[in-house]
Amino acid sequence: MKIFIDMDGVLADLVPAVLKFHGITDWSHWERGEYDMCKVFNMDIWKIPPMLFETLQPSAHCKRLLDMCGVDATICTSAIPFTEGPKRTWLAKYGILNRVIFIRDKSLLAGPDRLLIDDCDANCGEWMQCGGAAVVWQQHWNWGTNRLEGVRDALGLSPEP
Ligand SMILES: [Mg+2]
Repeated sequence: MKIFIDMDGVLADLVPAVLKFHGITDWSHWERGEYDMCKVFNMDIWKIPPMLFETLQPSAHCKRLLDMCGVDATICTSAIPFTEGPKRTWLAKYGILNRVIFIRDKSLLAGPDRLLIDDCDANCGEWMQCGGAAVVWQQHWNWGTNRLEGVRDALGLSPEP
């Protein structure tokens, strides 16, 4: 199984950093199923400074997920202009040596025996339509119910004791 791991919302905590940058503390009206935080908070994506991507906190499960998937897993992330460099810097900063592919339409990489781990329901849906397997990484904004245990299931690994 070839594994593709999303960055923002899976490995890196983008949303809290962007909302903090914009001074937003109230998420209560953000409804599950709406992935686009710019739409929810009426923000301009172009106003997110690219350098912010270098300063993100790794998610709570970042290291365990990478350990589980191995160094052959591919980091698969979309990038708005000028964020590729900061994203590469972030990966290097945390010693993540996996190959990285910057791509907006992730389903171009989908197919049988390919697993996508992503916090965007739509990305996972399109990936599965192309014959791949997907784990919607559970977040406030999606319908996912799984994180590490879902990946473990998808990879056919034994449950942790
Ligand atoms: Mg994401």
